[in-house]
Amino acid sequence: MQDRRMARTRDRDRADRARLLSIVERLADGVVIQNERGTILFANPAAEELFGRPLHQLTGVELGMPAILGDTSEIEVVRPGGAVVTAELRVVETEFDGEMARLVSIRDITDRRRAAERAVQLERERLARAEAEATSHAKSDFLATMSHELRTPLNAILGYAELLDLGVSGPMTQDQKQQVTRIRSSGRHLLGLVNEVLDLAKVEAGRLSVQNQASRADQVIDAAVALVQPMAEARGLALGSECLDGALFDGDEERVRQILVNLLNNAVKFTPPAGRVTLTCGLERAPAREARLTGAGPWVCMTVSDTGIGIPADRLAAIFDPFVQVEGGHTRRSDGTGLGLTISRRLARLMGGDLTVSSEMNKGSTFTLWLREASVAQQEDARWRTESPDAAARLHGLSDAGAALLHDLGALVDAFVSRMRDESVAPGVESLRASQIADHMACYVADVAVLLSAIEESRGHPSSFVADAGDIQHYIAERHGAQRSRLGWSAAALHKEWQILRDEIERVLQRASKGLPRNALPEALLIVDRLLEQARDRSVRALERASA
Ligand code: ADP
Repeated sequence: MQDRRMARTRDRDRADRARLLSIVERLADGVVIQNERGTILFANPAAEELFGRPLHQLTGVELGMPAILGDTSEIEVVRPGGAVVTAELRVVETEFDGEMARLVSIRDITDRRRAAERAVQLERERLARAEAEATSHAKSDFLATMSHELRTPLNAILGYAELLDLGVSGPMTQDQKQQVTRIRSSGRHLLGLVNEVLDLAKVEAGRLSVQNQASRADQVIDAAVALVQPMAEARGLALGSECLDGALFDGDEERVRQILVNLLNNAVKFTPPAGRVTLTCGLERAPAREARLTGAGPWVCMTVSDTGIGIPADRLAAIFDPFVQVEGGHTRRSDGTGLGLTISRRLARLMGGDLTVSSEMNKGSTFTLWLREASVAQQEDARWRTESPDAAARLHGLSDAGAALLHDLGALVDAFVSRMRDESVAPGVESLRASQIADHMACYVADVAVLLSAIEESRGHPSSFVADAGDIQHYIAERHGAQRSRLGWSAAALHKEWQILRDEIERVLQRASKGLPRNALPEALLIVDRLLEQARDRSVRALERASA
């Protein structure tokens, strides 16, 4: 009787133990039990994975790290092969096989650490950029004021010279007439220079705004050609143009004409008589490698080519720098200012496009202006358009939302990882390491957070920082899609993943919303949704490409 009762108790104990073990075995955190001498008696699969060693290599040896009761400490685990994992240790007392023992739970916090480090790094970069931008603004402000101060007296000089020339103050001798002509031509040159400096200063100070709207390429081209035609004829050059029917670009007609006139003027200036200058316009899907463009295109590209003197290969990059003129050309240095191309490229970039060049000595040069095609651009444009008077108010608080996201990044990533596992988003997700689940997403969210601040700071205008952040996010999304494809995920799983990320971002923003200015939450969510949508589509495309 007693024997049977004891046997039943034994059975129950055994069942309890088996149940307990099966729970411990499924824990996401590593669990190690060691005796009082420090020898490992038991380790669960998560611990095996964390240490990168199979069970039989773990049991019977010493843990090899301080396990102080009640303490939480951080350790670095070096796996066989050299990979380093950061883990958090917690130690409690327990009983194991009738002996006093220590239960050490170990959590892999590598991702959290990495995300936090990246956030700090991004913040540091942002501050450095902000500082550099502030310096450049101060410089540009100075230039703008100076240019204005210079223009007023210059106009007076030109005006009086004209009066003299007209003989208003009495007749002049031939010599005097010649001298006044020189005063006028030098004055005009100086005025041109000052005007261009003013333009450049305005571009740099972010004061020169460009309109982004659907514009007809053929009209702009005709207008530019008409302006330069007389000069081309005078130099005995053939000037022709050709434009793809119905090409629409996204940009500012006035500015595009300014760029084209500048390119055509240069082409005419640097092409010997009997040469040819051609302006063509077409649509390109893949832009030239050297063009700094973001977005998928297609691109409206306007090309000005000539049969002129060409530009030496080692000067090609420099001609876009301010005041650079290539020595030894046909023209005197004083014919130009060396600012035209600098301004043209900046204007092109301000519109979301770029200006590139290729050239061969004594054969000719080709300048290409890349502009976004209107249909794609209009969507982009509607997104970023902030010309309405309340734009600044709407964007106010975005940097706080960004800061909240950065602050809670670790918790966000943890919640994301658990939901991915709990909801079995894709087959086998439960057995992935946290880092395999969250690596890209942590970086992505950190970038979005920083971008929110950047958008507020740039008042929604396109800035190089905003463009760079976009590039980084696209890159992350592409890599993410390719990695998911290697894991055998479907597009549907990927969609679900982005949805979970979106929910978790919203949760953090909602939590922070009490401390945010009014409107900051809906505006931030609007932007986050747009960004996530783009990233999701990009990663799905990358997944499909990689799986094909
Ligand atoms: P500018 O023409 O006023 O000097 P730009 O910035 O427009 O200033 O051009 C800078 C320099 O680039 C020119 O001085 C010239 O040396 C070179 N360049 C520009 N366009 C051409 C061209 N089509 N062919 C040869 N050289 C060119």
